[in-house]
Amino acid sequence: MAEPAALPIPSLDKLGVSRDRPLVIVDVDEVLGLFMKGFGGFLANRGYDFRIDRFALFQNIYAPGAAEHLDLETGRALFNEFFAGHCAEIEPAPGAVAALTKLHRRAEILILSNAPPQAETLRGQWLRKHGLPHPLILSSGPKGPITAGLVAQTAQRTAFIDDLLPNLDSVAEHSPATATFQHVADERLRPLAPAAPERHPRIDDWAELGEAIERAIHG
Ligand SMILES: [Mg+2]
Repeated sequence: MAEPAALPIPSLDKLGVSRDRPLVIVDVDEVLGLFMKGFGGFLANRGYDFRIDRFALFQNIYAPGAAEHLDLETGRALFNEFFAGHCAEIEPAPGAVAALTKLHRRAEILILSNAPPQAETLRGQWLRKHGLPHPLILSSGPKGPITAGLVAQTAQRTAFIDDLLPNLDSVAEHSPATATFQHVADERLRPLAPAAPERHPRIDDWAELGEAIERAIHG
């Protein structure tokens, strides 16, 4: 079997991230921003229902009154359209901006988002608009390899925050010294999101999460 192509790992220096302070790597959708709520509003404007009754994305999009979800191709097209034109309309997750602002006093913040490339401009604008002027990396696939490549560039302590268990497990596998935390911003998703608190502390309150991150990177 062919080896997967090596990921291009961005340089912390080029991103303007200091290697003299701990590094906190943070996701956007359902961590810093209320993606499901924003995407749901976008879908409602298009005449679709977004039913959050399971932890899924495209399988949750329905034509009004339909018993079967929309075909995945149409769902994906709507998802791409949302990211190209509307992803700057989502609301910040409650407490996220205040917690990151506090963390940034003593740590570097890097935003690592698995969003399509067409989201880059709007997502960067969204971050700055909400007082999060941190470097943004758009990626795809499990986040362990790219996180390990970033972490390898600093001797400082590191932390990683995401809503998705596969990303958290991937980081634990590829970058075992990095402290991992799960945060699920949307209250409707919280009971549905797979978690493994014994591996990744699950903290859905941002003030509490900020304190736990502080302890992990400075303790
Ligand atoms: Mg996410």
